Amino acid sequence: MPEAPFPPPQTVWRVALPLPLPRLFDYLPPAGEPVVDDGVGCRVRVPFGRRELVGVVAEVGAPEFDGDGTALKTAVARLDPTPLLQGELLDSLRWLARYTHAPLGEVLATALPGPLRHGEPLPDTHAWAWCATEAGAAGRGRLRAGKPRRLADLLHDHGTLDEDRLDNLLEGWRDAARSLAKRGHAERVAVAAATQVPVPRPGPSLNDEQQAAVDAVLAAQGFNALLLDGVTGSGKTEVYLHAIADCLARGKQALVLVPEIGLTPQTLARFRARLGVPVHALHSGLGDGERARTWAAFARGEARVAVGTRSAVFLPLPEPGLIVIDEEHDASFKQQDGIRYHARDFALVRAKALDVPVLLGSATPSLESLRNAQAGRYGHLRLQRRAGQAQAPRVRVVDVRKRPLEAGLSPELFERVHAELRAGGQVLVFKNRRGYAPVLLCHDCGWSAHCPRCSTPLKGTPMTVHGGGRRLQCHHCGTRRPAPDACPDCGGLALQSQGAGTERIEESLAARLSGFPVLRIDRGSTQKRDALEKLLAEFGTAPGVLVGTQMLAKGHDLPNLTLVAVVGIDEGLFSADFRAPEKLAQLLIQVAGRAGRANKPGEVLLQTHHPDHPLLHTLLAGGYAAFAETELAQREAAEFPPFAHMALIRAEAQQVELANAFLAVARRELERAAAGRRGDGNARGLEINGPVPAPMPRRAGYLRAQLILSAPERRALHAALDAALPAIHAAPETRKVRWSLDVDPADL
Ligand code: ADP
Ligand code: ZN
Ligand code: ZN
Repeated sequence: MPEAPFPPPQTVWRVALPLPLPRLFDYLPPAGEPVVDDGVGCRVRVPFGRRELVGVVAEVGAPEFDGDGTALKTAVARLDPTPLLQGELLDSLRWLARYTHAPLGEVLATALPGPLRHGEPLPDTHAWAWCATEAGAAGRGRLRAGKPRRLADLLHDHGTLDEDRLDNLLEGWRDAARSLAKRGHAERVAVAAATQVPVPRPGPSLNDEQQAAVDAVLAAQGFNALLLDGVTGSGKTEVYLHAIADCLARGKQALVLVPEIGLTPQTLARFRARLGVPVHALHSGLGDGERARTWAAFARGEARVAVGTRSAVFLPLPEPGLIVIDEEHDASFKQQDGIRYHARDFALVRAKALDVPVLLGSATPSLESLRNAQAGRYGHLRLQRRAGQAQAPRVRVVDVRKRPLEAGLSPELFERVHAELRAGGQVLVFKNRRGYAPVLLCHDCGWSAHCPRCSTPLKGTPMTVHGGGRRLQCHHCGTRRPAPDACPDCGGLALQSQGAGTERIEESLAARLSGFPVLRIDRGSTQKRDALEKLLAEFGTAPGVLVGTQMLAKGHDLPNLTLVAVVGIDEGLFSADFRAPEKLAQLLIQVAGRAGRANKPGEVLLQTHHPDHPLLHTLLAGGYAAFAETELAQREAAEFPPFAHMALIRAEAQQVELANAFLAVARRELERAAAGRRGDGNARGLEINGPVPAPMPRRAGYLRAQLILSAPERRALHAALDAALPAIHAAPETRKVRWSLDVDPADL
C-alpha cells in the first residue's frame, strides 16, 4: 500500500466505518482521485487492520492526528461517483447517531440495505417477471407434482408473470422459481414498471369524522404531526388511503410504516387495489437484493409509495409528501438491539426535516403521543364510531376466583364458547403465552424445571413445557431439552405441568368441542412467513375456535369473529415494568377490537381473578381514553416518561463483578458530568439509579446488570452522556463486558 507523503496534504476523507468506535477514520484518496468537496455521502472501500471495510465519507477536511505518528492510510477505492447518502437523509442519520450516542458508521450500516452496506453498486430498478424457457416448456410434463410444477403450469398458462402477481398466485413461489431456474426451466426478465400498475378501485365514501380527518391532513402545510385517534374499525386506513391519494396527485412520495404483524398480504392488496400505483413492500421476509432495489427506486424518485416495517423509515424520499405511521403505539417500532432507534420517533424527525405532514394512527395511542397531543404539539383527530354498520363489542368480566379451571379456562367460558359455535359464530381465545404450560413442577418436593443458562440461585427462569409435555424450552435463550420422566431431585413421578399456554388450551378445547375445528396460531405454529395466511384461509368462515397469542391481536380481518375470550391477563396486572399497564390496556383493547368487525355485534369475555382491579375498572367504564388519563397522571406523579426522559446502560459478563465494575465507572463519569465538572453544566438534574440487576439477571449464561438514567429534560440526559461517554469508552473496565446504551428504552 502506498505510504502517504509527509507532511500530509490538507484534505482527507473522514470516513464513518461500521465499528463500535465513536469516531471517524481519516484516509487519503487513492492515487489519481482528487479530494473533491462533494465526496461527502459517497461510499469508499478502505483498509482497516488486515481487513477492508466499506464506509461512508462523513466529512472532507484536515486530518485529525492520533498523536502516535502513524502515516495516513490510503483508501482502496471510491465506490460512488455521486453521493449515495445526501441531503435530508444524511442529516437525519447524523441526528440519529447523536441521539442514540452511537457511532455514525454503525447508524449508516443499520440504515442501508445489505448489498449497499457491502459496497455493491446501486442496483437497477426494473420490475421483474418470470417466464418459461424452451427447455422449461418442453420439460414441464415430466415434473413431479409440487410447487415447481405448479409454477411451471402457471407460466405455461400466463406466458410472463410479474413477481407481484406471483405473490398473489402461488405461495412460496420464490423457492419454486429458484428450483426451475437451476434446471434452466425458467428465467427472470426485467419488465417495464408500467405493466404492473393496477387500475385504482374506489373505496367507500367517507363518513363525517373520516372526512374531517382527511381535510385536516390535506390542509396541513409543511411539517405537521397529526394523531389519528380512532377506535378499531373506525376506518383509519381509509383516511390514510385518501391522504396518500392526494399526495400522489401532487406528484409526491408517501411512506407508510406498519407494525411487524400488520404487514399482511391483505393490507398490501388493499393499498395496491386502491392507489393505482405500484406499492413497494418492505419487511423482514424480503431478500437483500429486493431491499436494495426498493431503496434505489426511492432514491431515484421512481417509486411513489412504500408500506414497510420498522427499517422502512430509512428509505430515501427525494420527493416527499407524507409519512403515515399505523398503530403508532406498537412496540415493534423500537429496535431492541444494535442501534436502538424508534422508527416512529425517527419518522417524526424526518417529517420535520422534510417539512411534510406525519399522520400517527392508533386505537390505543402511546402515552407519549397522547401527551404531545394534549400539549398542542400534535393535532388530535378523533374517529369515535366504527365505520359502516359495525358495532362496538360488549365486554363482560368473568370472575374466576374459586372456580375450577381446566387449562386455565372456567366452565362459564367453555359454555359460552360452545354456545357461540352452535349459533354459527367464530371464537378467538386469546392467551399471551405460547407453549403447553409455563412451568413443570414436582408435586412431591416442589422442584421445578429452570433454564440452566438463565437462572441464578435467587431468581429462577422457568422453562416452558412444549410438545404436550414432552419437551422443555427456554423462551429467553432458546435452550431445549426433553422433559424428565422423573423428578431430578426426589426421583418422584409426580411431575405436573402448571398453568396453561396456547398448546394446552388448544388441546383442552379440542377435547371438549368435538365437531368444531380448533386452530392454534402462535409463533410456534407459524414459523414461515406465509403459514399464517394459509392457516387462516383453511380456517375459513365456518364455526370454529382460534387459539392465539399477540399475533392475532391485529392485522387479519376475521369478519365472522363474534366472540373473543381473553384469559391469563392477571400477571400483566402486577408487572414491575412501568409500561406494563399501558401495554396491557392496549392489548386488551386491540384484541377486543377483533370481535364483531362486520355487521354482527361482538362480545368480549375477560377472564380474571381480579375483577376489581383499577385498570380493568377504568378501562371498562371509560375506555382507553379514561385509562390513558389516569395512567398519565400516575406517570407524572412518579416522574416517568413522557414526563421524564430515560436511558438505560446495560452490561453483561460471565462474572457479575465485571458488569458491576463497568457500571460503577459509568456511574462515576456520569455523576461528574451531572455535577457540572465536565461539559457545559447542562447535565444538571440527571438522576442515576444502579447498578442494579437487570430484570433477567442472567441470560444465556451471562450475568446482567444495569444503570437507569433519568432527567426531567432531554437536554440534561444527552449533555451528561455526551460528556461522560468518551471516558466510559476509554476505561479498562469497559473492555471486559458487553454493554449497550438505550435512549428511551421500551422497558427497564
Ligand atoms: P381501521 O384501520 O380503523 O381499523 P379500516 O379502515 O380497516 O379501519 O376500516 C374497517 C372496515 O370498515 C373496513 O372493512 C373498511 O372497508 C370499512 N370502512 C371504512 N370506512 C368506511 C366507510 N366510510 N363506509 C363503509 N365502510 C367503511
Ligand atoms: Zn421432586
Ligand atoms: Zn434460557
